[in-house]
This record gives sequence, C-alpha cells and structure tokens, in this order.
Amino acid sequence: MQTHDIRRRFLDHFIRAGHTEVPSASLVLDDPNLLFVNAGMVQFVPYFLGQRTPPWDRATSVQKVVRTLDIENVGITTRHNTFFQMAGNFSFGDYFKRDAITYAWELLTGSVADGGYGLDPERLWTTAYLDDDEAITLWQEVAGVPSGRIQRRGMADNYWSMGIPGPCGPCSEIYYDRGPEFGRDGGPEADEDRYVEIWNLVFMQNERGAGRGKDDFEILRPLPRRNIDTGMGVERIAMVLQGVDNVYETDLVRPVIVEAERLTGRRYGSDHGADIQFRVIADHARTAAMLISDGVNPGNDGRGYVLRRLLRRIVRSATLLGATQPTMDRFMTVVRDEMAESYPVLRTDFERIENVAVGEETAFRRTLDSGSKLFAVARDSVVAAGGSRISGDDAFALHDTYGFPIDLTLEMAGEAGLAVDEAGFRELMSQQRRRAKEDAQARKQSHADLSVYREFLDGVPTEFTGYTELNTDARV
Ligand code: ATP
Ligand code: MG
Ligand code: MG
Ligand code: MG
Repeated sequence: MQTHDIRRRFLDHFIRAGHTEVPSASLVLDDPNLLFVNAGMVQFVPYFLGQRTPPWDRATSVQKVVRTLDIENVGITTRHNTFFQMAGNFSFGDYFKRDAITYAWELLTGSVADGGYGLDPERLWTTAYLDDDEAITLWQEVAGVPSGRIQRRGMADNYWSMGIPGPCGPCSEIYYDRGPEFGRDGGPEADEDRYVEIWNLVFMQNERGAGRGKDDFEILRPLPRRNIDTGMGVERIAMVLQGVDNVYETDLVRPVIVEAERLTGRRYGSDHGADIQFRVIADHARTAAMLISDGVNPGNDGRGYVLRRLLRRIVRSATLLGATQPTMDRFMTVVRDEMAESYPVLRTDFERIENVAVGEETAFRRTLDSGSKLFAVARDSVVAAGGSRISGDDAFALHDTYGFPIDLTLEMAGEAGLAVDEAGFRELMSQQRRRAKEDAQARKQSHADLSVYREFLDGVPTEFTGYTELNTDARV
C-alpha cells in the first residue's frame, strides 16, 4: 500500500466517524519556544487548554512534523526520520478512551477492501500507563488483545506532556511485531526496533506545571474537558505494509536513494557504512525541501542552522559516496516528484526551493574542499603522535579559517576514531567573543551592543527552551 493511499485511508476512516479534516499547520509556527512543529496536536493546544472553543468536537489531520533530536538516529535506527507525517484524530471533550481505542483498532486491523490497513491483530502489542487499569481493560474488551501482549510503562514512556506547562495525560501505544529476525522477544519493553511503535493514543486530561524533566513535573489540575490526541507515524505504517526493512526504503523516500546510487555509481545494500550515508541523503533531502517550502532559509542560528546542517550533511554524505559533481538539484527534483501530490507547493515553488538548497551546496562544497585538507593534516599528526584527540586549537582554526562547524569536526573525528577537545574549542570561542566585545565597547560609546549578532556570525546555535520534552525532540 502506497503512502498516499495510507494517508487517505486514515483521513477517510475518521471522516466516516464524524471528524472534520483539518489541513496540516506549517512546520514553523510563530512561537519562540517551538523550533518546529513536532506533533499533530501542536496547532490544537489552545483548544485542549480551554483557552479557545474549537469549531468542531472531532478533527483529523496529517501533520508535517520535524524532530531535530532524531537527526543522530537517521540511517542508524530503522525507524527515525527527521521529517515525517503524523496522522492524528482528536476529540475536544467529545469521545474518550473507549472510542479512541475502537477507532484505532478498526483502522489497523480492518480489511483492505473495507478501507483498513489489514494488519494481523496477532502481531500487535499495546502499552498503558502504570495505573491505567481502564485502558488495559479496554484493550482486552474492545480489541481482544490478550494480557500477555499488553505492557505497563512509566512516566517517561506512557505519560505524555509537552515538556512545558500545557496539556498532558497518560497514553497508550500500539506496536507492531516485525518478527524474531528483527530482534529479541519480550515486547516493546525489550526491543523497540523489532516491536515498532506505530501509533500513540494520548488521553489528554490534565494540565502540567513547571518541572525538571520528562518524568518529573507537577500535575496542576484536570483540564476543563477530557480529550483525545493521537499520532500515527505514516512512514512507520508504510514500512510495515510495504514489507521493507526501514522507513528510508518506503515508496516516497527510496527514490532519492536510487538517484544517489545513479549519481555516485555506488550500490545501496552492499556496505553498512555507505548505506547509512544513502539513508541520510534520502531523509535529509526531504526534510530540507519541506523546511524551505515553509520559509526557512539556511542560517547560523535556530531554525536556519538546522536547515544548514541538514543540507551540509547531504553534501558530505554524497561526497563520501564518491560524488564529484553537485547533486542537490537532482535530489530536490526527486523529492518534488514524490511529494508534490500531497504538498503541491513543492511544485509551484520549486525554483525557489532548488535555489536555496543549491546555494548552500555550492558554498559548502568550497568549505569542504579547503577545510578537509586542514582536517587531514591535523588528524594525521594526532595519529602519528599516537594521540586520540584533535586539539581545541585545530578545531578552532577549522572553524575560524574555513567556517567548519564544530559538529562537522566532531563527526569527521568520530569517523577517524578520534575525539575532539571540545572544551578547549569552546574556551577559544568565548575568548574570541570576549575580545570582540571589548573591541566593540572601546570603539563605540553611543552605539547599540551588537554582541548578540556576533553570536549568530560565530555560528553558535541559539538554544531553544520550552517544548524541550515534547517527545524530547524539540531542542537543537
Ligand atoms: P519512538 O519511541 O520510536 O522514538 P516516539 O514515542 O518518540 O517514537 P511519539 O512522540 O509517540 O513517538 O509520536 C507518535 C508517532 O509518530 C509514533 O508512534 C511513531 O509512529 C511516529 N514517529 C515518532 N517519531 C518518528 C520519527 N522520527 N520518524 C518517523 N515516525 C516517527
Ligand atoms: Mg516511544
Ligand atoms: Mg510514543
Ligand atoms: Mg522518539
């Protein structure tokens, strides 16, 4: 079953059950605490909190989502994209646990002929929050899940909050068992790569206060009404239904891998290290195109920095695979051709998207060329001296002279089995910043303090706070 069909079936299923289809919000909302929209519920927060009255009691959407903290997972786990589509159904004070479970189960296990996904119920596992006996009973009663395939999990996994004051509540998740060839027995508690999480049902019923972490916060009050918020990973269901090993090989993502094979002359599936680079390209190309289409431009802070980092990782992965010529325009073209059916802006605004991506590629290829030579000199001298660490001085020189971001130095050092004296690097950076500030103060008497802009130029990513634990993925 193709991704477009999966999306449509989800929406139709919930429309039949009285939900109104709501379009995806932009990936970028006007909220300084939120880097990117990273869950379907984000656009509905004021409704859950009772601050605004929703125009409908039931809604369904397929939300564009970007999770930056999953960047490191890309290509390494089988199930993490940086951009993915979260299909969801929402009840604003209307139905609650019983119907949420019923609807989800019907869609997952309903026959393909009747609009369902046709999954084998024997392969599905579910979870519930520790003391949520009601959910456990409902999974047994409504869905017929035997108690041996229901697991209780604690705050960190099964009590959902945004990481900042806001709506929260216990949740129940649905996992698909891909079989023993994918990992250990024992359910999701034992192995989340074999038992893949496909859907999370949140019983949004409380408001949380401030707190220290994912599983350490105060619950302030019950929300005015009890709500449902669910999120199903479209790429994850696609992986299961298409019988492929990972989310990068699903129908809309794989074509970028094929294009990268063509451009580099390498074959996917023959070398573990190379495969990771192929998957990084396929994942990041899509994320970059979607971010640019929502107005993000490469930059040295915040959102722009994330985009820059994604584009640069594409360039570097392509280079590592042996590309000697620019490749970005081809990757953007393939993303457009696959994704425009759901996101027509990729076609109507293609010229701009392509220009932004190719502009960054051109600049970074120059940086890579010259910086890689200096990096190789530094690496070789460390290795020759029997050391294990690139010095802070070298990392600083790479940054200062060649515009090498520290994360690239860290990544390249890691590939060579070396560490980097990061503390030394940061110390040199702050010395430089102090000097610049003193200079500026000496020079100006009556001008505004520009040190804040210097941070941007120094390439120090602005730290976003808030929403930090919305799936722990909001922070750069
Ligand atoms: P995981 O534990 O696998 O990282 P999660 O618990 O962080 O997933 P949720 O926050 O519950 O995920 O998001 C709802 C659904 O979105 C998940 O059940 C999953 O199907 C999907 N999903 C989450 N993260 C990703 C991702 N990085 N790429 C693709 N799909 C994802
Ligand atoms: Mg999870
Ligand atoms: Mg989850
Ligand atoms: Mg996660």
